[in-house]
Parts: sequence; structure tokens; C-alpha cells
Amino acid sequence: MKANCKICDRPTTRVLSLQNSIKTQAVCSTVEKSLQTPLIDIEVMYCDNCDFYQINPVDFQHYDDDDYYLTAQLSETQRTYQQWFVDHLARYIVSPVAEIGPGDGYLGNLLTGVGHIYVGFEPARKSFEQCQAKGLLVINDYFNINDDTKDHFSTVIARQVLEHINDVKAFLENVHGSLMDEGIAIFEVPNIDWARTLNRVVDFCPEHLNYFSMSSLSTLLASCNFRVIHIAKTYDEEYLLIIVGKMTQFTRKFNTFDFSDLVFWGAGSRGISLCHLLHATPLYFVDSDSSKFGKYIPSTSIQIHSPDVLYRDRKCKGVVITSFFYFKEIIDELLRQGFSGEIYRINENNEMVHCTI
Ligand SMILES: [Zn+2]
Repeated sequence: MKANCKICDRPTTRVLSLQNSIKTQAVCSTVEKSLQTPLIDIEVMYCDNCDFYQINPVDFQHYDDDDYYLTAQLSETQRTYQQWFVDHLARYIVSPVAEIGPGDGYLGNLLTGVGHIYVGFEPARKSFEQCQAKGLLVINDYFNINDDTKDHFSTVIARQVLEHINDVKAFLENVHGSLMDEGIAIFEVPNIDWARTLNRVVDFCPEHLNYFSMSSLSTLLASCNFRVIHIAKTYDEEYLLIIVGKMTQFTRKFNTFDFSDLVFWGAGSRGISLCHLLHATPLYFVDSDSSKFGKYIPSTSIQIHSPDVLYRDRKCKGVVITSFFYFKEIIDELLRQGFSGEIYRINENNEMVHCTI
């Protein structure tokens, strides 16, 4: 079997051939059903560009199987972990919350317990019924983008879901579309890097089509227009937890200003770039670094002086602070020196903003 990587589309390499039952996440109710359940070959393909493993989907609807049911609430470790999840991620979880694949509904119950507006999307019948029994609002279907879900959620949570999905990019596009602009998505997946460290070959099963390490999980999400806010190994390194927001791209904003009676403070890289970006011709620059005094802003005839020049200069009507890192320090210095002119900065939209102290 030849296959290209789902994430980067480069050719993958086969690293393992295994045989397994077509289902490993559900057991069979009778011996007849069990013996009718076929063994299949699994070829584990690896992308060394992404550090990503994938297997081909098998022809079996795992989530339509009435025996498909994974419960975590039987385990005290899992209950403790899910409580940690809710507590630890509290600052990221904002209502309305969608949970994709809520399983037994234990996390949903914790979330509604702390007052969240919650909806779950659960295609597997038995899990859906468990969620309903807990009084959760749950839709017995796959998660999809529609009029009810588009731009709707502040938080989308999908624990132990991404590894099951064949067209993972289409799925992530749906998640992206369902989030408000400031929305956050939280994904948790098994950490294949940990399994690899332990040579735990039994981690490969036909229900899991994707096997992520930290780098492949980040790469996939970045390729789907998400920015990584936080990534961590959890549950004794068994899980990867990634928190992402919608990516925004740089845009160039054009504005022109008259800087002829203003001075720029900060002849660092950003100050010089700003000068060129705005085609600015201020009176001069000042900088706290004495090694720059008397020198020039590159590609211009604009000179750099000591801040002392500024305080004595009657032509100067104000200062534009170009530094981001030392902004507060510079303001404090201007105040300490009794500077009476205007103070400005240039904001992210290339607008000149008056700084009121
Ligand atoms: Zn790849």
C-alpha cells in the first residue's frame, strides 16, 4: 500500500504490518457474532516530515455498532483526570460549549455542573443514551457545520476523537467554522510518541486511523488555520492536549500622517521598520542607547539624538513611541522629565493613538 501523508501530502513509509480484529473497541455479544468478525491486515504508514502515523480506514461502521461504548467513569483515575481537565482549563472554557464525541457524558456532566451551556454530538447509540440519562443536551449524530452550529461556539472540545477520523482536515474545517472569531478548540489524543518509547505496538488498532506526536498534532492544526495556544502531555504522558484558536493573518494597513513636528522614540529594528512602513519623516529620532547618538536611521537622512535634545526642543510638539517592549519605561521617563508635549503610539491597524496618562 502506498499512501501520502494526510497532513503534508508527502509519501509515507510502511513501518509495521499487523493483523488485528476489525474491531477492538467493542466486544461481541455472542460467539456467532464474534466468529463472524473478521481479522484484517493493518499497515502502519509513517511520515517523517510530520512525525505522523496513519492507517487506512477499514470497511466497518464502528460507531453504528450497538456494542460500541467506551466508558471512562468506571475508573477513578479517569474521573480525577476529567475533573482536573475542567479545573485546569477553566480559563479557556467559555459557553456555549460543544463537545464532539462525549462518550459516557462524564465531562459534559462536569461542565454543566459548573454552569456551562453545553451541547454534545454523539453518533454512537449507547453513548448517546448514557448522555441523555445524565440530562445532557446531546445530538445523536456526527458533528457537522449547519445554520445552528456555524460561528456559534465559544469552545469546542473533542477528547479522543481526532484519531478516529479519516478526513481529519475536513473535520477540522467544520470545527473552525463552528467557532466564533475568539473561540477556542481543545483536542485530546493518545500520544503515539509515548507508545513508541515503550514499543507498545498494541496501540495500533483499526478504530484509530491517526497517531499523533506533539509535532504532528501542531502541524496538522496549523495547516487547518488554527494557532497553537498551548500544548501539553497529560495523563502520565499518555495523552496530548492541545488548545488552539483561529489563526489570523498579517495584513498591511495604509495610513499617512504628518510627523513634521514630532519625534520618534526608539531607533531599534521596529522603530526603523515603522519609519519606512509609514514613509515617516519625523524631526529626528531619540533613543536611550548613547551608542546611537549622532547616527542615522538607515536609508534616510533622519538623525538619532539623545532624549535630552527632545526636552529642550521647542519645535517638537510630541513624541511617537515606537518601542513595544519598553513602552511603559519610556512613558515613565517622559513624565519624570516633565515632558509637556503629546505622546502617541502606532497601533496594530497603523493608526496613531494618543496616549493619555
Ligand atoms: Zn506529513
